[in-house]
Amino acid sequence: MKTLVCNECRTPKMVPDSFQGESVNCSKCGAVIFVPRTPTTRSPGVAPSRRAETTGNSVLATIG
Ligand SMILES: [Zn+2]
Repeated sequence: MKTLVCNECRTPKMVPDSFQGESVNCSKCGAVIFVPRTPTTRSPGVAPSRRAETTGNSVLATIG
């Protein structure tokens, strides 16, 4: 269960965790509230947008 706040009327709304990634309607004004998806599992060492800093360049063929 998490509490979201309506963007339109600022009314707090309780939303079950199972609604993650979906949209609910504000019970007061009816506006659509998007429920953000929060990661429940953390895998160490795997972070998005932080990879491939060490590609290529280290070994250039020295043939001869
Ligand atoms: Zn509202």
